[in-house]
Amino acid sequence: MDSVLASAIAMTVIVAVRYLITSGMFAWATHKVRPGHYTGLDRQIRSEITWSLATAAIYGVPAGAVAWGWQQRGWTKIYADPQAYPLWWMPVSLLLYLFIHDTWFYWTHRWMHRPAVFRRVHAIHHASRPPTAWAAMNFHPIEAAIVSLLIPALVFVIPIHVGMLGLVLLVMTVMGVTNHMGWEMFPAWLVHSRAGNWLITASHHHRHHELYRCNYGLYFRFWDRMCGTDKGLSAP
Ligand SMILES: [Zn+2]
Ligand SMILES: [Zn+2]
Repeated sequence: MDSVLASAIAMTVIVAVRYLITSGMFAWATHKVRPGHYTGLDRQIRSEITWSLATAAIYGVPAGAVAWGWQQRGWTKIYADPQAYPLWWMPVSLLLYLFIHDTWFYWTHRWMHRPAVFRRVHAIHHASRPPTAWAAMNFHPIEAAIVSLLIPALVFVIPIHVGMLGLVLLVMTVMGVTNHMGWEMFPAWLVHSRAGNWLITASHHHRHHELYRCNYGLYFRFWDRMCGTDKGLSAP
């Protein structure tokens, strides 16, 4: 991609298509697993898709600029040669990225639940009642900008293999969709296990959409547990 503008446009298209395919797949799965679960939600789903496509551009522009900076200028700490760092760094960097992203999300999310900020910014995300598989990127542009800036900033600071970065984005996309689709896809033995006590799936995030001021985390229950905001699981 030789110009930064072309890269930003390409990335916006990639994010939008990725959203339509992933949400479409899980919406179809919902139709099979819970027939009628989205009945009567057509208007809401249209709004979720509209806001999500606007979010795709807000995610796509910084991501495209970073991709251009990496490929054309070598500015970032993204690496392609697996031997550039010790092999153990791959899983460690993956967990580190997920943990930092989760930390960023937890604290900005809590801030967005302050009444004045909630009304102006975060109410759009909570207008989905109940959320559906299409709500993954259903954000006000300010929220989308806050959510989208962290990973493009991190790649300038913490080295990560391009494959691990792809995995971070995959986890982000799949969990964003499945946490909103209205049913738990992970088996009960995992959700209610010792590991499940620290991981966020639909059962945890669904409760956030029911009760609002709890369960703010993204991937891990660490901050919710540390700060006393974890209100357990619901049975979506
Ligand atoms: Zn949500
Ligand atoms: Zn919220």
